[in-house]
Amino acid sequence: MAAAASAAAWNFAPNEALLGLTAHSVRGALGRVKAGMVADDGGGGGGARPVIPMGQGDPSLFPCFRTAPEAVDAVAGALRSGEHNCYSSCVGLEPARRSIAQHLSNDLPYELSPDDVYLTNGCAQAIEIICSVLARPGANILVPRPGYLFYEARAVFNGMEARYFDLLPEKDWEVDIDGVQAIADKNTVAMVIVNPGNPCGNVYSYEHLAKVAETARNLGIFVITDEVYAHLTFGERKFVPMGVFAAVAPVFTLGSISKRWVVPGWRLGWIVTNDPNGVFQNTKVVDSIKSYLDISSDPPTFVQGAIPNLLKNTKDEFFNKTIKILRETADICWEKLKGINAITCPSKPEGSMFVMVKLDLTCLPDIKDDMDFCCRLAKEELVVLLPGCAVGYKNWLRITFAIDPSSLEDGLDRLRSFCLRHSKLTK
Ligand SMILES: *Cc1c(COP(=O)(O)O)cnc(C)c1O
Repeated sequence: MAAAASAAAWNFAPNEALLGLTAHSVRGALGRVKAGMVADDGGGGGGARPVIPMGQGDPSLFPCFRTAPEAVDAVAGALRSGEHNCYSSCVGLEPARRSIAQHLSNDLPYELSPDDVYLTNGCAQAIEIICSVLARPGANILVPRPGYLFYEARAVFNGMEARYFDLLPEKDWEVDIDGVQAIADKNTVAMVIVNPGNPCGNVYSYEHLAKVAETARNLGIFVITDEVYAHLTFGERKFVPMGVFAAVAPVFTLGSISKRWVVPGWRLGWIVTNDPNGVFQNTKVVDSIKSYLDISSDPPTFVQGAIPNLLKNTKDEFFNKTIKILRETADICWEKLKGINAITCPSKPEGSMFVMVKLDLTCLPDIKDDMDFCCRLAKEELVVLLPGCAVGYKNWLRITFAIDPSSLEDGLDRLRSFCLRHSKLTK
């Protein structure tokens, strides 16, 4: 056997840019939080304590969030038909695009056409595509803070600069419009909003979205709206799509079935152009999306084939049930958090599955920062939360309340005893 060649003899090396980027991703942060956690196997007499997963927004494992039977039937039917074992076209199957166009048009003052819809591997690939087609040397994109850092990672990986504008906690996490104007320049191409919000649980009003559209118009940029939590609202405000304002400034709407149908593993999302004035056609941005799709992989054809029946047959009963549980768990969260001295919650969540809370480290003398807090909480209490650094907001926490209500109560009680134990007030 030949001796192994020394490392220096090879021409290849890892892409260093990637190593830096994942450090701040949700998955990267949760990996660190869970690293020191030893699951309680129940040995030694006492009952086992389950791990409470309040870090990632994926409720699909809980029976109370199981997807609609009509959605399962739609996929099973698409498989059994034998018609969806082929490659799809690169923009996606026409019937799926048509039904998504109709579905979204229900909430709009104009009709979308199937040609406005591009199917993607979940909303994540929609983000990847948008950030790739916009990247050109010197361009920058405006992203919210706190935010969903996947946008920043994809922008930076493509050589585009990400600039942050603030969301205002004292104003239900509205966009700091003055801040947007202050950081934009002639190389700014777009601004991103996430509505309903991840990580903040906010839902924007019609009036606020109108202001966002005007601001984009004045800056000569378009709006990318991440509506992956569309219609997942349980407070006073109803969901209004950004596309309503597309005649003011053009809008790319990104979405998927992952969250509303609770099937993130099915990998079906979309990019939709909301553009009644044809700006994206004239500027040829749509051509670059098609070109990108020519050189990337498609969502599974049988899931595309299931979309018309999935959208048509899913009953309101299913959506209402999900909303009812989220309303209940958001209430539990809000009430229980009030009783925890080291944590403040600026506003009650009205949509999505998350709430942002502020850590008061002066109450917790032996805790260094948000990451330290989450690592020790996981280790001592088997409760997983996302440290704020993973959403660009140091020393805050993102809590996912989309878990079954009794686990949530258990998790928040453990969070409370952890804070009490580490708090100097109890000494
Ligand atoms: C979950 C999530 C996504 C990704 O959705 P997929 O359809 O599972 O790829 C995108 N944006 C936000 C804000 C999310 O929370």
